[in-house]
Amino acid sequence: MNLMWFRSDLRSRDNPALFNACKQGPVMAVYFVCMQQWQQHGHGANKMVYLRESLSALQKNLAVLNIPLLVIDAGSFKKIPALLSDICQQHAIEQVFFNHEYELNESRRDQQVLKRLTQLGINSHAFHDQCLIAPGENLTQQGKYFSVFTPFKRAWIQKMAAQYQAPLSAPKKQAVLDLTCPAWPAKFMQLQASADLSDVKSGERALHQQLDDFIAQKITGYQAERDFPALNGTSHLSAALAAGVLSLRQCMHAALLENNGEFQSGRPGPDTWISELIWREFYKHIVQGFPHINRYQAFKTETDQIRWLDNPAHLKAWQEGKTGYPIVDAAMRQLLHTGWMHNRLRMVSAMFFTKNLLLDWRQGEMFFMQHLVDGDFSANNGGWQWSASTGVDAAPYFRMFNPTAQSEKFDPNGDFIRTWVPELRALNNKEIHNPGSAQRKTCAYPQPIVDYAASRARVLATFKALYGEQHD
Ligand SMILES: Cc1cc2nc3c(=O)[nH]c(=O)nc-3n(C[C@H](O)[C@H](O)[C@H](O)COP(=O)(O)OP(=O)(O)OC[C@H]3O[C@@H](n4cnc5c(N)ncnc54)[C@H](O)[C@@H]3O)c2cc1C
Repeated sequence: MNLMWFRSDLRSRDNPALFNACKQGPVMAVYFVCMQQWQQHGHGANKMVYLRESLSALQKNLAVLNIPLLVIDAGSFKKIPALLSDICQQHAIEQVFFNHEYELNESRRDQQVLKRLTQLGINSHAFHDQCLIAPGENLTQQGKYFSVFTPFKRAWIQKMAAQYQAPLSAPKKQAVLDLTCPAWPAKFMQLQASADLSDVKSGERALHQQLDDFIAQKITGYQAERDFPALNGTSHLSAALAAGVLSLRQCMHAALLENNGEFQSGRPGPDTWISELIWREFYKHIVQGFPHINRYQAFKTETDQIRWLDNPAHLKAWQEGKTGYPIVDAAMRQLLHTGWMHNRLRMVSAMFFTKNLLLDWRQGEMFFMQHLVDGDFSANNGGWQWSASTGVDAAPYFRMFNPTAQSEKFDPNGDFIRTWVPELRALNNKEIHNPGSAQRKTCAYPQPIVDYAASRARVLATFKALYGEQHD
């Protein structure tokens, strides 16, 4: 008997560990629910509920293949080596299969598991699945991890073009196993999402349809539309990618089929979408290449000298979407209500938080993680540190987004603001981005919690002091 250990790869198709396990003989599968650990990692109910829905769909798909999936309560990672070895001994498991996870705690957990399995004389096989090129295998000429995206991407494409493989199919149906799956952990079943997740699809079939629809209807216009939050111009596949219901390879493959088999064909829509998928992979490499970022440290360690402000009132206003900056508030309310936020607005909101409020990016990162249905350490940490100018290939500290200008540019008619900040609905397309004081009073909308110009000057002075540059 072989054991497939599912983690963030909740799918039956294009799953290298599952596919290879099934080649070896009969397979049973296990998934460990680690709510205590996930909470420590800042994951909120939206993400956990999405995992539960995805697991439930996976269990049904696996049942068709006669692969039983045990869902076991582990609480935290440290219980997994013992639980896994009990299962191995109980079911006479000869080999364990899983796909790599690159974050620090996850890697440590895997080392402990491997040690235990080796002591029991059980072979284990790990596969690279979240990345098409394994972290550590796309390096600079000096043999170092890239910390800038464009050269990473250039080298990645060159390498990938030579070794690209199409996605794997689902394994073949096996003979029925005599094994009853226990009930799922009660605490996991009782979880309630804080947002309305009714638009977030789970299950491979529905998500392949969503991917196909995006490729057929939207990818051509992606580059032109992706920055406008009122347009539904992006794929909304991030939750599926984070939980592994879809693989990066499946998304890449679908895009390549549309793009003449090329990573960069000159067609702006598919080229840009492929580039975003490579960003996802880039941040996974960063997590492994620069482990200090897993320990709440900035990638640019010198920026940990910055004395971020402690301002609970500002933090609360931002969290509740009551900063008095309409585009920021609309973004935060979208997050609270749907568990998802448009990429342009994640940048606007995170930059407002770190630059204009001068709050510690770690607090913002944590809040996003608590609410995002697609919460993913590498992408979230990467996005926050990019916005805070503390990370890899980060926005230079002096190139700040002005939220009002961003709003005028990317929500020109105020449609997005009107959806999420109904108090401002009656204002015209110009005023809605920055209502006057009297309008705010009549609309019952807050005054701005910071003055833009003063807050900009404050953060510039902070960074200049850090880098020993002259103040203006
Ligand atoms: C502050 C901040 C926090 C973020 N937190 C997360 C997070 O927790 N989880 C997450 O998946 N993404 C995160 N992102 C990246 C990005 O905003 C989302 O992936 C994207 O908005 C998801 O929508 P979509 O699926 O429609 O994306 P699409 O535009 O359709 O892109 C396709 C896929 O590419 C990947 N992708 C796109 N942009 C990025 C990017 N900048 N970095 C990494 N991967 C990317 C995602 O997997 C996405 O699903 C964050 C970005 C910022 C600025």
